[in-house]
Amino acid sequence: MSDRKPLIAGNWKMNLDHQQGIALVQKLAWTLKDVNHDYDKVEVAVLPPFTDLRSVQTLIDADKLQFVIGAQDLSKFDSGAYTGEVSAQFLNKLDVKYVLVGHSERRTLHNEDGDVIQAKVAAAFRNNLIPVICVGETLEELEQQGAAAVPIQQLEKALEGHKEIGEFVVAYEPVWAIGTGKVATAEQAAEVAKKLRSSISELVSDEVAQVTRILYGGSVKSANVAGFLASEEVDGVLVGGASLDVGEFTGICRFQKHVSL
Ligand code: PEP
Repeated sequence: MSDRKPLIAGNWKMNLDHQQGIALVQKLAWTLKDVNHDYDKVEVAVLPPFTDLRSVQTLIDADKLQFVIGAQDLSKFDSGAYTGEVSAQFLNKLDVKYVLVGHSERRTLHNEDGDVIQAKVAAAFRNNLIPVICVGETLEELEQQGAAAVPIQQLEKALEGHKEIGEFVVAYEPVWAIGTGKVATAEQAAEVAKKLRSSISELVSDEVAQVTRILYGGSVKSANVAGFLASEEVDGVLVGGASLDVGEFTGICRFQKHVSL
């Protein structure tokens, strides 16, 4: 096993209002407490919708819970006349640690291209947020170019041209696996993660490549998580649908119970 601390991140997408969000976080905290979850060994992040962030942050703070918070998106601008946008500065004030950038739903449904994603990564670095840079190929791209080509191109673009590169996480999420019930094989996830790590070595440095966590995402469940995390190359998972179910998400956070390390 590598020295990188695994990250289990639950992307709620546009689900759960702030009251439902509080209820889920409370239940998750009790359930993980009952099973003595060691947060020093496995980091657990929840990524609620913007409208829930303040409530979830207040709860985490008041009850001294050990979850960290992530946001699902951010503006490439820090402030100004950008109606509807949310600044990384504001997220930082809410103790947000991680922010998704380049999720396939933003790339396809909101037409976010490589330039926008790069600018959002820069906004995260400027404001001390850790971008979780999501990359992944469509089924057509998989058939034509194999699994790693598109994720590597997307990562290169996201990391290009920054004055300074802060900490970041990469999430390899094959588009055909997100919300579909189809999963990549553990071997495919490990192979792409390995290639992404080599490209971080080339783009940034060997040191950064060694400490950067690379997650797998796409229809992860408690029943299949152990396969992905058995590999040295995969340092956690980004979970959509299954993060809304406390039992499932708890099982995912406890992946070490199923993996021989
Ligand atoms: C996601 O939204 O990042 C995701 C991986 O979704 P799901 O787990 O539902 O496939």
